[in-house]
Amino acid sequence: MSFNDFTGSRDVAVRLQHSLQRERLAHAHLFAGPRGSGKIAMATTLAQALNCLQKEHDACGRCEACRQIAEETHPDVHWVRPESKSRRIQIAQIREFERAVSLKAGTGRMKVGIIVDADCMTEPASNAFLKTLEEPPDRTIILLLTAEPQRLLPTILSRCLRISFGATRAARTPEQERALSLLVEFTSAQPRGIVNVYRLHTELTKLLVEMKGKIEEEADEVDPHKELDPEAREKLEAERAAQMEGEYRGVRELVLEEIYTWFADVLLCVSGAEAPALAHTDRWADLQRAAAGLSHERAAAHLEAVERIRDALARNIIEPFALEVGLLKLI
Ligand SMILES: [Zn+2]
Repeated sequence: MSFNDFTGSRDVAVRLQHSLQRERLAHAHLFAGPRGSGKIAMATTLAQALNCLQKEHDACGRCEACRQIAEETHPDVHWVRPESKSRRIQIAQIREFERAVSLKAGTGRMKVGIIVDADCMTEPASNAFLKTLEEPPDRTIILLLTAEPQRLLPTILSRCLRISFGATRAARTPEQERALSLLVEFTSAQPRGIVNVYRLHTELTKLLVEMKGKIEEEADEVDPHKELDPEAREKLEAERAAQMEGEYRGVRELVLEEIYTWFADVLLCVSGAEAPALAHTDRWADLQRAAAGLSHERAAAHLEAVERIRDALARNIIEPFALEVGLLKLI
């Protein structure tokens, strides 16, 4: 199946192909969406596009590599699925997977690891998998597929670039909704100048600070009256901080995905896409306004600026700085 054959998740196909062409594919993606929303087909096509012998940045579906990938016999594309009996992904499977992806690519150009129903990982499996994500093997793309992303460890969620499929997109979180309003306001401003960029920067930072504050408020504090030696207390405090950080990165990724999807939609509009192909079908008029007068090149550059922000944050570049540098490219 070529990227062009996707009618249901057209926006996702276009975004992935765009990242592929620019060689900016993240090393770990989370495909989140209900059953039947095309996650497996998209993962297969992406694995094929990375290794196809006929086409560049797409899958021909007919060559030896494409065929083997579709049949799940390709030596460089590794699948993990829940065991049929327990319906869980066990630590032994993750260990096996780690071994497989740590080997040098054989015939293929890129190794691809696909975890189907990633939320079925047991706790030990999740922890083992986290290590792989923290030290990703060379020339490997990892795809986590799930219908229930909220069941994954926040520390795993925060290390994956999230891509939503199907109806999950329609249900935006209040934070995503707020980010979207800011973007609509920003992209419809004419002319778009440095003042608009700094306003967007200020408002986004405010949103992120509030999100962080909310998580801190909700996290269980270490009881100050509890009898603990200083070392144990310190350890508990550190664990709490790591937990909060993981949660924060998870919700931040949702907001970043919203921003990314918005600019991807603007690019699609500039290329003349029809409303059903977009993630923000409900914002058709706003998108048209944002796309008006924009060249394809500029729209692609804007999308890339957002990709860079996501990249920078994934690499722990200081948040306000990463945002400022990225947003300034939107003028
Ligand atoms: Zn092929």
